[in-house]
Amino acid sequence: MTKLDDAYALLPGGGPLIKDYPGEGWGDLVYEMCEKLAALPGGAPKMSQIKSKFGELRVYTCTAPTAEQGEIIAEAIEKSKATCEICGKPGTMKATGWMIVLCDFHMDPKNR
Ligand SMILES: [Zn+2]
Repeated sequence: MTKLDDAYALLPGGGPLIKDYPGEGWGDLVYEMCEKLAALPGGAPKMSQIKSKFGELRVYTCTAPTAEQGEIIAEAIEKSKATCEICGKPGTMKATGWMIVLCDFHMDPKNR
C-alpha cells in the first residue's frame, strides 16, 4: 500500500472513480487533504479524479464542493506547486518541457 492508496481509502467509495495517480511525492499532501475532508461533518465528497496536470494537483469532485471542502482542496493544490512530485521535498516548477514540480536533486535528469 502506498500513501496515496491510504489516502484514497479515506474517501467514499474507496477513492476516485478514475485512478490516475499523481507522483508518490505528493502522497503526504493528498493524504492530509483526504484526512481533513473525511473529518468534515458531511464527510469527504465523492471524487471522480485526483491527478497531476500541468505540474499541479487537480482534484475533481463528483458534485460541486462546499466552501469548506473547496478550501481544503485549494490548500492541497497550493502545496503541490512547491512539492517535488517524486520525493515530496520542497521543489519548484521545471522551466522547460513536461511540467512537473521537482526538488534540486530530481531537477537533474540523471536523478530521475
Ligand atoms: Zn525530489
